[in-house]
Amino acid sequence: MKDKGKLVEIFSSIQGEGPLVGVRQVFIRFCGCNLNCAYCDTDHTEDEFCLVEKAPGAQKFDQVANPVELKTVIDLLQEWKSVATNLHHSISLTGGEPLHHGNILGRWLPELRKILPIYLETNGTQPGILSRLLDDIDYISMDIKLESVCHFPTPWELHRDFLSAAAEKLCCIKSVVDSSTPADELCVAVRLASDIAPETCFIIQPRTDKSGLAITAGRLLELQMAAATIHRDVRIIAQTHRFLDLL
Ligand code: SF4
Repeated sequence: MKDKGKLVEIFSSIQGEGPLVGVRQVFIRFCGCNLNCAYCDTDHTEDEFCLVEKAPGAQKFDQVANPVELKTVIDLLQEWKSVATNLHHSISLTGGEPLHHGNILGRWLPELRKILPIYLETNGTQPGILSRLLDDIDYISMDIKLESVCHFPTPWELHRDFLSAAAEKLCCIKSVVDSSTPADELCVAVRLASDIAPETCFIIQPRTDKSGLAITAGRLLELQMAAATIHRDVRIIAQTHRFLDLL
């Protein structure tokens, strides 16, 4: 059990969010999350099987019994690297919340990082676990969760501690917004980010649902204008993979 991880899926796709948008990554999606965002539409429930893409971009999957052995993941990554040498920029650890699996990551990351750099997508609420893993992570994309969109109080202190721990590896800080997000609320998040990581870009990500963007373009521009009074690198980036109908 000690080298086995509970996974939802492993697949190859583009990074659809943030400043590395468009780069090809291997996504390893972990089960479970410590939060329950109202807008969450990611299937991160534990299943008997993990879905593993047959080849990079094939969009057809094999079933591998859960939990999955580290060796299975390494063999897959090495095979993909041999058939598509320069295709993948990094391995994206996603979820769910990958840091929910801190003990497993402590054993997996030194091995996975020998194959490709490690990109962590995280809700930014488990700073203690991050600190133990930081040496084996190359990029961190961290969320600041806004109450207007998530429907629970923002864990400001955890986000603050996480930002402090992650600062040297942060590639972006991101908040999902929708039409209910007041500029004042977003600006608290931007100020926190700017105080601790002034060189890191802040991404305003419009919430997307089945009917499209849950906020108008005009309102997004207003939010960016407000945020830009605090932080010098504020960008609006939607989830581009959804427009391409990719995972
Ligand atoms: S942190 Fe991410 S995976 Fe967890 S509930 Fe929120 S949106 Fe879903």
